[in-house]
Amino acid sequence: MGIARQAAERAAQFADLLNCLGERRVLCWVSAGAASAVAAKLAMLGGKVTLVYCDTGAEHEDNARFLVDLEKWYGQPIERLKSEKYADTWAVWRDRKYIAGIAGAPCTVELKVGPRLAFQRPTDIHVFGYTADLADMLRAKRLRENYPELQIECPLIERGLDKAACLAMLEKAGIKAPLTYALGLPNANCLPCPKATSPAYWALIRKEFPDRFDRMAKLSREAWSKARPRQ
Ligand code: SF4
Repeated sequence: MGIARQAAERAAQFADLLNCLGERRVLCWVSAGAASAVAAKLAMLGGKVTLVYCDTGAEHEDNARFLVDLEKWYGQPIERLKSEKYADTWAVWRDRKYIAGIAGAPCTVELKVGPRLAFQRPTDIHVFGYTADLADMLRAKRLRENYPELQIECPLIERGLDKAACLAMLEKAGIKAPLTYALGLPNANCLPCPKATSPAYWALIRKEFPDRFDRMAKLSREAWSKARPRQ
């Protein structure tokens, strides 16, 4: 028997042992957006889940209200994870002297991926709120490719539910979506999110959150001036 096969069998035995001990968890990654909120609710229909949220310290204040409303809807608390090193996205960008680029954004790694990796166990099942919208389906595909070791479930894609359907389901449940949606933003992400490339997004941030827009403009100029090659 090859070494790889032996390792795979040992890993399976280890996973089986933990399952027998009742260690297998279903982690629902709630992001304060409408989609993951509904995905978690659907996952709960299948049994016990652990609800988890990564606090980036840079989302709209109304997201906190939304999470409390969700806890009432779920009848269960949501566990908040937070980076031990960084208070918010601004702290990450300053410390790393990098905001975002083609390789992604360090804030995601430090404030979302890092806390997730620290919290998860090899036997966990992960529920994500990717929707049946094409862009989201591609994101879910990339996640599976990047983390082949994770057992991933996407209940919204399985049921053909898009973002509009999730917002409608929340409304029907009497839960007010995060304020950012009413302001015209496409999600309830950090404000601002440097991964956004649409001029309309930045125009809206400038109008609704001028202080945050100015802060980002200053930081961008600073990062750019540091990144320029010497003449
Ligand atoms: S939502 Fe945007 S700003 Fe927030 S952690 Fe992710 S990439 Fe960074």
